[in-house]
Amino acid sequence: MRDFYELAIIGGGPAGLTAGIYGARAGLSVGILEKQFPGGQVVATDSIENFPGIAEPVNGFELARRMERQVEEFGAEIVTAGATSLEDAPDGENKLIGIGEQSVLATAVIVATGASYRKIGIPGEDRFWGKGISCCATCDGAFYRDKEVVVVGGGDTAVKESIFLTRFVKKLTLIHRRDRLRATKTLQDRLVALQPQVEFRWDTVAEEIVGEETVTGVAVRNLKSGETERLSCDGVFIFVGFVPNVEFVRGCLETDEKGYIITDQDMATSVPGVYACGDVRKKSLRQIVTACGEGATAAFAAQHYIDEMKGTLYEQEFPGEQPP
Ligand code: NAP
Repeated sequence: MRDFYELAIIGGGPAGLTAGIYGARAGLSVGILEKQFPGGQVVATDSIENFPGIAEPVNGFELARRMERQVEEFGAEIVTAGATSLEDAPDGENKLIGIGEQSVLATAVIVATGASYRKIGIPGEDRFWGKGISCCATCDGAFYRDKEVVVVGGGDTAVKESIFLTRFVKKLTLIHRRDRLRATKTLQDRLVALQPQVEFRWDTVAEEIVGEETVTGVAVRNLKSGETERLSCDGVFIFVGFVPNVEFVRGCLETDEKGYIITDQDMATSVPGVYACGDVRKKSLRQIVTACGEGATAAFAAQHYIDEMKGTLYEQEFPGEQPP
């Protein structure tokens, strides 16, 4: 990792990688700080069929690898590093990104840290996380071949992942706290058609996940009748939405009540020179294609900011002269 980049991008999912492609292609020195591996949530997506221009469904891992190769070919550096803080640098010109004990300077910063799976917050959830509870069907679905699983949630993720899980499981019970799914109609129709392998429990919440070494069941309650029941299962998949990854910018950037970063149409945050894009941003549609579009917009805006900063600094040093 260098100690200075003109543009530092925090997060290497589709938003961050696209910002990297646009920034590096514009001739900026670009560092992408990614704490795990490039690709973000996309890596765990089995099949992507709504990315324009790729008519044959593509595996998420493969799409992420292609984006990674592309950004590196344009000269951006991908560094394994998790940002822990973001503040104005003492020089008054740059931003200082803390990475534990280390730090890196950048003229402009794009926050593209995405969001993480939300937990329900019920007994047994922490105890059995990774021991029968999962939030990734692509990663863990094959462990449940001919077994029974419970899925919690009613959004696109829950439905899409459930469809994938039916390749393996003997039975899937989807429990949802309302009497209709939030997921898009196309996905809903596909899952509904998979009955009776798939069973729906409407107006039902999980109250506890039970087991011994691993999960053996879920205690549920029907919100309308008040009836409680224990559903036997070998695994539980939880898809109840996401929480934005904003710990390191908390109190520094303006966010909404859920913690999503507020930006203008150019992806500019409340702090000049800091931009946000992708799932970490307050918006209405969270898709790979929107993340990519926002990444491009953020990089374009950051490029203008960097040019302006360079012009201002040159003017301060050489008043009245044009920058070379
Ligand atoms: P989401 O749309 O926020 O849905 C979360 C689901 O979990 C909702 O059904 C919600 O119930 C339920 N829920 C929330 N908190 C709960 C709790 N404490 N207990 C029980 N249930 C709870 O999240 P998502 O499905 O992960 O999707 C996130 C974004 O990614 C969305 O914008 C989605 O469109 C997008 N996405 C798109 C695709 C695609 O293929 N196009 C795939 C995956 C995700 P309520 O319905 O009652 O609120």
